Amino acid sequence: MELTTLLERMKMEHLLAQLDGVCEHAAKGDLDYKGFLTQALEAEWRGRHQRGVESRLKLARLPWIKTFDQFDFDFQPSIDRRQVRELAGLSFIERTENVVLLGPPGVGKTHLAIALGVKAVEAGHSVLFLTLESLMGRLVRARHENRLDRILQQLAYPRVLILDELGYLPLTREEASLFFRLLVRRYERASLIVTSNKSFVDWGEVFNDQILATAILDRLLHHATTVNIKGESYRLREKKKAGLLGRKPRPAGDPADVEEVGAEA
Ligand code: ADP
Ligand code: MG
Repeated sequence: MELTTLLERMKMEHLLAQLDGVCEHAAKGDLDYKGFLTQALEAEWRGRHQRGVESRLKLARLPWIKTFDQFDFDFQPSIDRRQVRELAGLSFIERTENVVLLGPPGVGKTHLAIALGVKAVEAGHSVLFLTLESLMGRLVRARHENRLDRILQQLAYPRVLILDELGYLPLTREEASLFFRLLVRRYERASLIVTSNKSFVDWGEVFNDQILATAILDRLLHHATTVNIKGESYRLREKKKAGLLGRKPRPAGDPADVEEVGAEA
């Protein structure tokens, strides 16, 4: 059988596409049989891995791609870098633990949640990103259309479910109880990453029910890492820099000016 036919039948399309290059490389590098086989299979594996990442990334529905490299930790000194590095190692997913990112608007909660999502996708995990609003829309609709169980099943599936912006809109009692049911489904089976602008003491208000909020917090935080970000909004900083927000005039040569220019690099 021809090599190309073999590769086709074995569905090794990436190696097939790179065959000439791989052979040339092997000849130039004076590889032995094992070395050549390793390189050839690696070409196939890389292609498959890359395709897997791309398709999981699509399914994850991240609103943008953000990475840890793009995050300026110097701007947010309240963040414990060691804690974030530990999270980026993703062992929390293996342990089916949760992550809660708390802080005022603009401090990078969504950015960090997405960066964790991207890492998880690259490591082979299924990820789904939803704002709390769209989650609630889905759950309430599903309940009214009598297919709540199926939707809860679907939402229990991703290894990492990112729920963004808990707390911006208060939930009705119905929504809060649906949220609780989702949490129970995923509890100790798969990880949640939740971002919120409200500290835990205010969750009773968010869920419109103190007892339910306590039960929710109990399950969410039983195995969880909380990153509490206290700092300035990065968005506002950018607006301030662009002169869109008023700021007190400073004498020329103020060291703060030098610092801002330096931070831009
Ligand atoms: P939050 O979810 O806390 O409201 P975001 O994560 O949406 O904030 O951040 C707002 C914008 O600022 C995003 O574009 C984000 O990428 C950017 N951003 C926030 N904090 C940082 C940071 N420390 N370094 C770099 N970019 C940041
Ligand atoms: Mg956000």
